[in-house]
Amino acid sequence: MPKEPETGYDPSLGRKFIFVTGGVMSGLGKGITAASTGRLLSNAGFDVTAVKVDPYLNVDAGTMNPYQHGEVYVLKDGGEVDLDLGNYERFLGVDMTSDHNVTTGKTYQHVIQKERAGDYLGKTVQIIPHVTDDIKRRIREAAAGTDVCIVEVGGTVGDIEGMPFLESLRQFAHEEEDEDILFTHVTLVPYSKNGEQKTKPTQHSVKELRSIGLQPDILVGRSSNELDPETKEKIALFCDVPTEAVFSNSDVEDIYHVPLMVEEEGLDEYVMDRLGLAGEALPKADRDSRWRELVTREREQEVDIALVGKYDLEDAYMSVNEALKHAGIETKTDVNVLWVDSDEMLDKHTNRLKEADGVVVPGGFGTRGTAGKIEAIRYCRENDVPFLGLCLGFQMAVVEHARNVLGYEDAHSVELDPDTSYPVIDLLPEQYETEDMGGTMRLGAHETDIAADSLAAHVYGDTVCTERHRHRYEVAPDRIDELEDGALTFSGRADNRMEILERTDHPYFLGTQFHPEFRSRPDRASPPFLGFVRAVLDELDARDLVADPEVQA
Ligand code: GLN
Repeated sequence: MPKEPETGYDPSLGRKFIFVTGGVMSGLGKGITAASTGRLLSNAGFDVTAVKVDPYLNVDAGTMNPYQHGEVYVLKDGGEVDLDLGNYERFLGVDMTSDHNVTTGKTYQHVIQKERAGDYLGKTVQIIPHVTDDIKRRIREAAAGTDVCIVEVGGTVGDIEGMPFLESLRQFAHEEEDEDILFTHVTLVPYSKNGEQKTKPTQHSVKELRSIGLQPDILVGRSSNELDPETKEKIALFCDVPTEAVFSNSDVEDIYHVPLMVEEEGLDEYVMDRLGLAGEALPKADRDSRWRELVTREREQEVDIALVGKYDLEDAYMSVNEALKHAGIETKTDVNVLWVDSDEMLDKHTNRLKEADGVVVPGGFGTRGTAGKIEAIRYCRENDVPFLGLCLGFQMAVVEHARNVLGYEDAHSVELDPDTSYPVIDLLPEQYETEDMGGTMRLGAHETDIAADSLAAHVYGDTVCTERHRHRYEVAPDRIDELEDGALTFSGRADNRMEILERTDHPYFLGTQFHPEFRSRPDRASPPFLGFVRAVLDELDARDLVADPEVQA
């Protein structure tokens, strides 16, 4: 066991580690494969956590464009992290902290700060051992107190950026008992023109892994269909693993079915055997079966929800999409999301909005598409269409009200129009003091007080809620009195910060300055989303009643 150079960490705390690497290309869903394995281990009674390693130089995901990397996920401690952490929180049902996302930026920044402070005085500071030690320390600390820690390395084996991390894993394996470490490599198994599964890319990628001293214990082949027995044998032979250690991960319509699929393949049993955990696992019949029950629950109805966004990339709104799904599970409803581009909404998509039973305007930054968002909100307000506005969507609902109800045509957020004569959304006071863009927003979990008897209180079943935030702007405090005209009220507040708005003249018009989607789980749908989907169902029922000739007669 190694001596940890920096902390009093007890290495016996984190017991078992599963390292997950990816080969051939990115975007194979290794995060979902890893999270699914974790879910099954947790069903079997183990305490499971995860670490996502991102080899980019950004300190965190907060400064990255969601168009390139997908959504920036926000943790309760305010960490702005890779969206895979969102999948881990949803699949494992645990809350993580920023320490569970290790980046090159974080590691190097820390090592360089220590160098400046003189902590390595007299030494040449190097990637090995100083950076690799720091990476190992971070992984061990994040795993402390758990039975199994799944460590997923972003990117593809062979990337220059990933090298220090893979070298750290090699050292890690060298330092721990064989039985405590497992390497899983997820690769692509493509088809040839004549429909044959090809293993060459996998062979090459494993060769690459071995050249840096890593031998995979398990191979997972991503393919449109299950791997043929011959394909598995071939991979086993060339990559030096038993045939039983080769698993397929084929395409499924819903990622929530991946745990069921890998369970059928026996991946969880194999992992437990290899890690010496089989004897401690709950007997099959006693394992937690809630996940299976939730994701296979019959659906009794279907609704169409328009998501009016800026990005044509669905990953940018992953948690919103998931939260809608969770509300669907709870209400036994298939929630179809209609992706409506706010940029084009004013022309060809207006009809699309009419097809929707409810509208969500999610968070965002920058001016592009705001006119379309405001139009979508006006449409909901005037036509009693259920509406949920999140962060920027909440702010735009305030702008829409100021413009179209109160008559301030020029009303806007200063983020989007610094010259507006009627600024209803202004910078948070503390933001005037900061120039840095990274990690400086109002972030993470904060408490909101909810007015009794409001829609929000009904939805939360409480007069307080704690939700995650990520914003730089807020409702201008000096406009609140004028904005609250009786129809619009701010029913959720954190002191003089407006957190929730609702309309008393509408069946379901709710906006939140926070992002409730980040706390939504398959077995615990987010209250504003659940309220929204229920309102959509109520509206549809009411419409059916009106359309029913017997009721009319
Ligand atoms: N751009 C807005 C702000 O900074 C909204 C942010 C968001 O939607 N996450 O306040």
